[in-house]
Amino acid sequence: MTQDLIKGAAKFQHYHYESGDEALMADLVTEGQDPKYFIISCIDSRCNPGTIFRAKPGTFFAHKSMGAIVHPYQKATALAAALQFALQYNKVDTIIVLGHTQCGAIKALATDIDDAEISGFISVAKHALKKSQDCCSTHDEILDKTEQEVILESVDNLKSYPCVAAALAENRVSIKPWQFNMKTGDILEHNDTTNNFEIIKLNTPKEDCRTNA
Ligand SMILES: [Zn+2]
Repeated sequence: MTQDLIKGAAKFQHYHYESGDEALMADLVTEGQDPKYFIISCIDSRCNPGTIFRAKPGTFFAHKSMGAIVHPYQKATALAAALQFALQYNKVDTIIVLGHTQCGAIKALATDIDDAEISGFISVAKHALKKSQDCCSTHDEILDKTEQEVILESVDNLKSYPCVAAALAENRVSIKPWQFNMKTGDILEHNDTTNNFEIIKLNTPKEDCRTNA
């Protein structure tokens, strides 16, 4: 039943415990972790940041929520505790809100899902939906726009967390509004000047990415 997972774990064990340059886990276990990034992403199985970014162990803290939605600050939530740990007791310098296209949570929001457990969480993003409905005409355009507006609202809500506000005031952290385009694999970032999400270009030759390492 779960052999696909165990096979993956065996590969991980081979590369990161036993395989020369990639054997990072021994150091991470003895010396501890020092991740630079904190990534907030959707629970969607197709946009797991560990898979998308092909990141090595120790690269980022991960937090998941439906639609990568961040609620305004409330004391002692899972996210508040995780951010406190990342910013006060570790040296994370970049928080990434990673939304994605074709997001089921945003579709549920736009179609007013009749499920109190889910709508109770995602309804915080209703303002983003309303904003999109005011400027777009078709259902698909509204969904696309809402997916991006929710990312921006989540970034704003993050600033209400005391540890994030303090880190921003001291210039210790930046927050990046990112979107994973599931159809193309591109990663986009919101550009404050153009007010659009734009593809983040790679600053090394793409050929460098064509090995499996
Ligand atoms: Zn999603």
